[in-house]
Amino acid sequence: MNMDSLQNINKNINNCKKCRLYKTAKNAVPGEGNEHAEIVFIGEAPGRNEDETGRPFVGRAGQLLESILKDIGLSRKDVWIGNVIKHRPPDNRDPLPDEIDACRGYLNMQLDIIDPVLIVTLGRFAMNYFYPNGKISRDKGRLYKINGRYIYPIYHPAAALRSTKMLKAFEDDFKKIPSALEKVKKYKSGEIKIEKRDDDVESDDDGQLGLKF
Ligand code: URA
Repeated sequence: MNMDSLQNINKNINNCKKCRLYKTAKNAVPGEGNEHAEIVFIGEAPGRNEDETGRPFVGRAGQLLESILKDIGLSRKDVWIGNVIKHRPPDNRDPLPDEIDACRGYLNMQLDIIDPVLIVTLGRFAMNYFYPNGKISRDKGRLYKINGRYIYPIYHPAAALRSTKMLKAFEDDFKKIPSALEKVKKYKSGEIKIEKRDDDVESDDDGQLGLKF
């Protein structure tokens, strides 16, 4: 457990030169929200609006995230929102493996401090950060316990804005977040046990659990 504070980590992120991305970005985007959140949302990397403001998910994808959060009775203040990558990749290109590795320590420390019950990953990069062999179209909408953390991968809201089919899948999975959270609490309290094989539980290729609900 890291005893640093989120504020100190933010300072380090704001001064970070561990990879090339600081050279082209205007602002770092460390993440923000409730430090005691039960649920955190992890996206890929800042886009143009986030780079301008230093805040995560403030563009169109962020508006969709905020409105669907409201549908499940939550607001940005209730959750913590961050990204795998803290500086915007030029022209929103995909982050490179060395950039993801350079940033890795920051998100790990942030999650150690917040210690959320449930981590909702948005899109493939955030899912693969925790679950490297995961395939978003196959594995989204299920709960995974990986290295002691409970991960619930769903599509990225930006992908949901690109097609009605993706939007429907995103909304369906998003609306299951409250029940995913309750399920994790029950696993943690021992009220329900994680069994490798029953109707509710599937083992995937890695022997990780993909819990259908
Ligand atoms: N997309 C992301 O993945 N993160 C943001 O902060 C904004 C858009």
